[in-house]
Amino acid sequence: MDTSFEESGAAASGPGPAAWPAADATTGAVAADAVVGETPAPAAVPSPSTAPDAMAAPGPSATGAAETGESAGSATAATAAAGDAAGAVAAPSGAPVPRPATAPTSLSPSRAGDFMQCPLLYRFRVIDRLPEKPSEAATRGTLVHAVLERLFDAPAGERTAPRARALVPGQWDRLRASRPELAELFADDPDGQRLARWLGEAERLVERWFTLEDPTRLEPAERELFVETELESGPRLRGIIDRVDVAPTGEVRIVDYKTGKAPRPEYAEGALFQMKFYALVVWRLKGVVPRRLQLVYLGSGEVRTYDPVPADLERVERRLRALWDAIREATESGDWRPRPTKLCGWCDHQERCPEFGGTPPPYPLPVRARESGGVPQGRMGAD
Ligand code: SF4
Repeated sequence: MDTSFEESGAAASGPGPAAWPAADATTGAVAADAVVGETPAPAAVPSPSTAPDAMAAPGPSATGAAETGESAGSATAATAAAGDAAGAVAAPSGAPVPRPATAPTSLSPSRAGDFMQCPLLYRFRVIDRLPEKPSEAATRGTLVHAVLERLFDAPAGERTAPRARALVPGQWDRLRASRPELAELFADDPDGQRLARWLGEAERLVERWFTLEDPTRLEPAERELFVETELESGPRLRGIIDRVDVAPTGEVRIVDYKTGKAPRPEYAEGALFQMKFYALVVWRLKGVVPRRLQLVYLGSGEVRTYDPVPADLERVERRLRALWDAIREATESGDWRPRPTKLCGWCDHQERCPEFGGTPPPYPLPVRARESGGVPQGRMGAD
């Protein structure tokens, strides 16, 4: 465990973490709550394949939903805050209300992952904004993230596993109240047994966190930090970072919680890409390359870290520019190709997908005449 970001104890009297450079109007870095409010925006819950975990996930046949599907809660908040949330918003009744189609203006890690996985899926989510059903796995991820975030409201010495577990029911009530569409998750569970099991799984994930990190020795500089920056000539990059720790030396660690299992090495690049995305945004905003990127996998009880160097982040920037060029080309041409993979099993849009005999809805944006030599929609290579 890297202790350089830890306090010397709950009753620490040392210098504590260094100050995180203040956000200002030019950086756009502000606390997430200031953007999305105490209540998460009522965006549709991303399906499992929306999760950053799934950006290069092995697919359901390999590991199942636990590995591919347990979305970062902040991913939901991030897309909501970033305005590129998939699907439709929910009316007070809980019924989805389609939002008008618009051309994309920004990129989050989740949506970048969508395009890399399948351009047509990206179109359905970002351009058409088709509604998607909430999933138990993604919603559990959101719930667990809320609990871990709230726990840091308590004094360091009181951040215990029982206290965290006790937060689960209340945070679930709060989440359900703010997103009426979640009512359908357990609509067919009249005796509440499935809900009780689901809440128990959330509690176990929360408890496992205490085997991986010690919150009594952590004093995060930021929790659920909304960040946004615009690369020269686009795109605008946005997202929400689960936690930022700043060591007394000023070194920065970016932490992301995953409620799924750690992926096998050959599929680890997707989650790491998300972290490098955040590191690039922090570098651009604050002028500091994070010393450490840390993924905390609650599903399997593992911590994965990566220490980036500027060349890593420059590669990610080039990759994002190329990705954005391909997205802009597809937006203008209306040419969104399906790319079938094992992850299609998690896709809510098979009935509209040509790969499954469906027909996409009419393209809602103006289309220009196709020129030769467009930007290819091939899979983005590893950076
Ligand atoms: S079902 Fe179709 S739209 Fe969905 S991910 Fe597969 S290829 Fe893409």
